Amino acid sequence: MAKIIDGKAISAQIREEIKEEVAEFTAKHGFAPSLTVVIVGEDPASQVYVRNKHKACEQVGITSDIISLPADTPEDVLLSLIDRLNNDKAVNGILVQLPLPKHINEKNIICRISPQKDVDAFGYENVGRILTGDFDFLPCTPAGVMELLHRSDITVSGKDCVVIGRSNIVGKPMAALLMHENGTVTVCHSRTTDLCAHTKRADILVSSVGKPGFITADMIKEGAVVIDVGINRLPDGKLTGDVDFDNCEEKAAAITPVPGGVGPMTITMLLKNTLTAANKQN
Ligand code: NAP
Repeated sequence: MAKIIDGKAISAQIREEIKEEVAEFTAKHGFAPSLTVVIVGEDPASQVYVRNKHKACEQVGITSDIISLPADTPEDVLLSLIDRLNNDKAVNGILVQLPLPKHINEKNIICRISPQKDVDAFGYENVGRILTGDFDFLPCTPAGVMELLHRSDITVSGKDCVVIGRSNIVGKPMAALLMHENGTVTVCHSRTTDLCAHTKRADILVSSVGKPGFITADMIKEGAVVIDVGINRLPDGKLTGDVDFDNCEEKAAAITPVPGGVGPMTITMLLKNTLTAANKQN
């Protein structure tokens, strides 16, 4: 039976640590670290994410502003807003909630955010710094996975790590972080032939595909660490990951549940990045 990696508990512990550091920062500087989240349009899922980020900031003492813009906001207006926030000393972190409406070029927006305030770490400067290992911020979801591994005493060095998914926000940075910790990393995707051959030899398997029940027990090695990044909504409204949890739990050494695994860590890492940004700027 696998050890369940409790992302909710680990996240709560890290948030307590962040809260203490935020209080120290605030006492020292006379103002709190601050995050501004920009949301364009009415996408309901995005609105929930933004509200959750705001609530999490409040809980640890980070000042959080939400700027809501209409869906038809022209790109140049959004770029001007980012310029203003970049130059505002009272703003330590800037996050533009994705996805953006189709008429706006996401790359232009993400890359306009000052790298020192880019707390999602999606801008090209930060992506380059992550690849070279010279970083201040890490993208929140892969960073959350690394924290889960560290705080569960799982070492990466020398392990066969298989990441399924190669997105810019999860798979690619995940592979880089595992490589920085001396894992031997294989990245699989929809064109991978014989996926099972790869997953079956993984000591650490990270799935970020977005398909419920995608990873079955026959695909994993006995004693593997299985990290489920997937978040999928079932027809009955329940959330589930990529991994067939009940069966894989029997075979794995450690496994993350969904919900309550990687999910809670993502916002926690955003709080950490905002605090880091505030410390670097002051
Ligand atoms: P994405 O951009 O859609 O990427 C999915 C990846 O899965 C792609 O690289 C795709 O390959 C690969 N894939 C699709 N079908 C496959 C198959 N049959 N075999 C092997 N690989 C396959 O998604 P994402 O943004 O990375 O997110 C992935 C999942 O993580 C989603 O469920 C998302 O909701 C979740 N997520 C969770 C958090 C969190 O906080 N826990 C944060 C972000 C995302 P190709 O590149 O070849 O298309």
